[in-house]
Amino acid sequence: MQKKSISIIGGGIGGLATAVLMAKDGHDVSVYEKNECLGGRASIFSEKGYTFDMGPSRYLMPDLFEKFFNEIGENIHDHLDLAQLSPSYKVFYPEDNTLKNINVYADIDRMADQFEQMEAGSGQKFRDFLKTSGEQYGIGMEFALRNYDSLMDFLRRDVAIKGMKLNIITTIDKYVARFFKTPIIQKIMQYTTVFLGTAPSQTPAFYNIMSHVDFAMGVRYPQGGLHAIATALVKIGKKYGVHYYTDSEVVTVNNEQGIVKNMILKDGTTITSDLFIVNADQARFETEMLPLELQTYTKKFWNKKTFAPSGFIIYAGIDKKLDALEHHNLYFNDNRDESFGAIYDHHVLADDPSIYICAPGKTDPNVAPVGKENLFILVPITNGIDISEEEKLSYRDKIRKIVEEMTGENLIDHIEYERIFEIQDFKDRYNAWKGTALGLGHTMMQTASFRPNNYSKKLSNLFYVGHNTNPGIGVPMVIVSAMLVKERIEEKVK
Ligand SMILES: Cc1cc2nc3c(=O)[nH]c(=O)nc-3n(C[C@H](O)[C@H](O)[C@H](O)COP(=O)(O)OP(=O)(O)OC[C@H]3O[C@@H](n4cnc5c(N)ncnc54)[C@H](O)[C@@H]3O)c2cc1C
Repeated sequence: MQKKSISIIGGGIGGLATAVLMAKDGHDVSVYEKNECLGGRASIFSEKGYTFDMGPSRYLMPDLFEKFFNEIGENIHDHLDLAQLSPSYKVFYPEDNTLKNINVYADIDRMADQFEQMEAGSGQKFRDFLKTSGEQYGIGMEFALRNYDSLMDFLRRDVAIKGMKLNIITTIDKYVARFFKTPIIQKIMQYTTVFLGTAPSQTPAFYNIMSHVDFAMGVRYPQGGLHAIATALVKIGKKYGVHYYTDSEVVTVNNEQGIVKNMILKDGTTITSDLFIVNADQARFETEMLPLELQTYTKKFWNKKTFAPSGFIIYAGIDKKLDALEHHNLYFNDNRDESFGAIYDHHVLADDPSIYICAPGKTDPNVAPVGKENLFILVPITNGIDISEEEKLSYRDKIRKIVEEMTGENLIDHIEYERIFEIQDFKDRYNAWKGTALGLGHTMMQTASFRPNNYSKKLSNLFYVGHNTNPGIGVPMVIVSAMLVKERIEEKVK
């Protein structure tokens, strides 16, 4: 392929990783980001001495990060100072009218022993479960690390034979129930579906591969937070001459004779280039920036899709240490049917929500002032609804109470800083379809060849990267998405 000028719309991890790959090959690459900060969902902000990762906080699938850094000829450890967390996370759960807890480790023997004490026979079952997850992870990655053109790709004999080895018929909740009877063990083994933006009852069982990620690989933390990944990508991109423009929202795209001719920024600047790669929300870009006849996927298509939940996030600065918390903490509610029903069926705020709390100060001394705690509190909630100011505050109060129960501490009098981020903020800040936090969920019909393609079928110089296309949701996945769009461009552009 001859050297091209390339405009990337959106400076999320997907856009930043693509910029590095294309610039390293000698192309002239510019990234245009709507917000003040590069990183997209993996942005960062600081207030009153606290530094908050705005979105992702769990560094998972280290093999995929290494694959990417190898591909660009860099040693990942020159860029990221990674700490392995132990425990990986702490789970709080109500049982017999008390709040119990269990630490989860990336140590199969240790977890097997813990589970055995809770349910006779479950230790060996856990080992069996993990053996299958490990085997299927390898096959699953073969499916993830490739582009698809059509359903026929998926049905090719060699692919289909491998696919048969994965559990594609049943769902993860039923699959887990075959192994474990104890509710809390079931919840822990199904919890990884939160990374996929779907309910366990909608998630194909082959995503048990996430248990391999959880219990065999574990959770790492890059010092400085997950935003350090964005910082590293920008540093490498600059080495190859990438130009980065923040506060540069693309508002119009002009097309002519089957190609995107140029795009217009909010300040009126016209940008012309050979290729355009969209990291911005694919659903909103296609339906709002392109005329109907040039949309590969129309509103009708997106409206039928299952989007991941949104999030009700509280960024809180607490003026004391909270000893009961680990770096990552989960509160599993008693009645998960109610909370999943609220998210996926009834589209209301759950009465008894499950909660995730990240306290990165447990590992990183630089994210909170000495003796204080930085909390990222996340409740998955339905997407697509409006939350009134009154509802927002009463939901915040409900969440605060649960956090007080988890920590056994009074919080209200110790909150030095607090910011709430919810559905409307996802829409406003990231142009997210229906305010989804994560993009298209990983149901069976939204996996592999069933996901939207990473190229336009109507405009020959328009491509997509990020969580709505292949392979899917999560920082490691969108980094793979960058490698896939590069392959796609090499295949399509001469
Ligand atoms: C609360 C939360 C927790 C998460 N936790 C984890 C986790 O622990 N581990 C993990 O691996 N993943 C996690 N994820 C998922 C992960 O953050 C995302 O999958 C990933 O960061 C998405 O990257 P992306 O490049 O596809 O999209 P984005 O990060 O959304 O980037 C797209 C960019 O496009 C910009 N944009 C939109 N419209 C325009 C426009 N018109 N012009 C210019 N720019 C535009 C947006 O501002 C944004 O910066 C989490 C996400 C959230 C929200």
